[in-house]
Amino acid sequence: PDDSALLDVDADDVESRPYVPAPPVLAIIGRPNVGKSTLVNRIIRAREAVVEDVPGVTRDRVSYPAEWNGRDFTLVDTGGWEADAKGMHKRVAEQAELAVDEADAVVFVLDGLVGATAVDEAIVKMLRRKKKPVLLVANKIDSSAQMSEVYPLWNLGMGEPFPVSALHGTGTGDLLDAALKHLPQTAQHGGMVPLGGPRRVALVGRPNVGKSSLLNKLAGAERVVVDKVAGTTRDPVDELIELGGEEWTFVDTAGIRRRQHMASGSEYYAMLRTQRALERAEVAVILLSVEEPVSEQDVRIVQMALDSGRAVVLAFNKWDLLDDERRYYLEREIERDLAHISWAPRVNISALTGWHKDRLAPALQRSLANWEQRIPTGRLNAFLGELVAAHPHPVRGGKQPRILFGTQPSTRPPTFVLFTTGFLDPGYRRFIIRRLRETFDFSGTPIEVQMRVRE
Ligand code: GDP
Ligand code: GDP
Repeated sequence: PDDSALLDVDADDVESRPYVPAPPVLAIIGRPNVGKSTLVNRIIRAREAVVEDVPGVTRDRVSYPAEWNGRDFTLVDTGGWEADAKGMHKRVAEQAELAVDEADAVVFVLDGLVGATAVDEAIVKMLRRKKKPVLLVANKIDSSAQMSEVYPLWNLGMGEPFPVSALHGTGTGDLLDAALKHLPQTAQHGGMVPLGGPRRVALVGRPNVGKSSLLNKLAGAERVVVDKVAGTTRDPVDELIELGGEEWTFVDTAGIRRRQHMASGSEYYAMLRTQRALERAEVAVILLSVEEPVSEQDVRIVQMALDSGRAVVLAFNKWDLLDDERRYYLEREIERDLAHISWAPRVNISALTGWHKDRLAPALQRSLANWEQRIPTGRLNAFLGELVAAHPHPVRGGKQPRILFGTQPSTRPPTFVLFTTGFLDPGYRRFIIRRLRETFDFSGTPIEVQMRVRE
C-alpha cells in the first residue's frame, strides 16, 4: 500500500539525525570559577543540565546542543574539569587547549572584576598559537557601574571584551550574535558524509580496553591514511580499513592512536572525543575488556552510544585472558550492567592474537541493516492490531487508551509514531518495543517510539 501521504504528514515532527552536517562547535574556556558553567547554562537555558556545583565532579555530558537566532551549534562546556593546585597555570591552559582544538570558535571567559590573572595570560598565549576566532568575555559585570572594569582587558590584544553577567543573563545576546558571525555553517571536524561513501565506524571504549591494538590488528600492514587517498574525505583524523571485503571509515583514529599524556582531565577528554566520534559515525563498536569488571565508565560510554542514536556492536576484548571464574562473573556483570543493550550483537575477540576479528564486519553489517530497516505501514499496523487484540492496554480510571494507527516515518535509527486516544503507560510502551524487537530483527539498533495523542 502507498503510505507516502502519511509519511509526508508525520515526518515533519520526527527528528532525523544522521546525514545532516554536524553543527559548528563553540567551546567555553577559562580558568576555574570565572562563571563558565553559569554561562553555559544561561545559553542552553536548561537548568536541569546543571550538575552538582561541587568542585572536582566529573560530568558525563560535555557538549550540549544549543540554538541562537534559529542557528544550531554545539556548546562545549569545560567547567567540569577539576582544578589541580599543583602546576595549575599549565594544566588549565593545557586542558583548554584540548577543547580549543575541537572547536570552531572559542569563548574565553574572564572574571571581569578580577581582571587578567597569570593563568589567563597563559591561556592567551595558547590562543594566539591556535589562530581560531576568540570572543573575550568579561563576566560578572552585574551592573553598568562595573562597566569600566572591562577596559583593561583590551590590553590582552584579543579584541573587544564583551561585558556579560552570566548570573543575570545580560550581555549574552550580543556575545552570541558575535559568536555566530565567527562560526562556520558546519563543524570543521564534524559533518556526516552523504550516503554512498564507506560506512563510518566509531571505535569507542575507555582507556586500555585495546582500541589502538584492535585498530592495528584490523588495519594490518595495509593501513591507509584517508588523507592520502584521492577523492575521499581529506580529514586526516580518519582511516580507511578493509574488513569483510568492504571498506570502512574508522573515524577519529588519530585520537585513539595518540596516547594520553595528561593525567588530569584525560577522562574528560576521552568522553569529549567519544561524543565527537559518535556524532561523526553511523555505527559504534563499543569495546570492553573482559580483563576487569565492567566499570562505571564503560556504562557511561554505552549510554553515550545509545544517546547518539547510532547502530552499535558490543565487542568484548582480551578474550585470551578469560578463565572460567572470570567468565562466570563477566556474564553476571553483563546481565546487571548491560541489560539495557542486550539487543546489541556481541563479538568476543582478542586484539592481541586477532582471534575472531573476522566476526566484526558481519556484526557491523547486521546492526547497520537494522538501523536502516523500515517496516512498511501495512505490516506495522497488522503487527499492532494483533498485539493490541491479544494484549489490550490496561484500563486506567475507567478509560482505555487505544492505538489508532502506527507508522515509521524515519530510520537511522528506526523511529515509530503511534497515534493513540490517550497516553500509553510507560510499561505498555516498553512492551510494544520489546515485541517490535521480537517480531522484526532490530538487533544492533536503538529504536524510538513516539506517541501522538488524538482526542
Ligand atoms: P566555572 O568554574 O568557570 O564553571 O564557574 P561557575 O559557573 O561554577 O561560577 C563560579 C561562581 O561564580 C559561582 O558561584 C557563580 O554563581 C558565580 N558567577 C557566575 N557568573 C556570575 C555573574 O555573572 N555574576 C556574579 N556576581 N557571579 C557569577
Ligand atoms: P586503548 O587505550 O584502548 O587504545 O588500549 P591499547 O590498545 O593501548 O591496549 C592496552 C593494553 O592492553 C596494551 O598493553 C595491550 O597490549 C593490551 N591488549 C590489548 N588487546 C589485548 C588482547 O586482546 N589481549 C591481551 N592479553 N592484551 C591486550
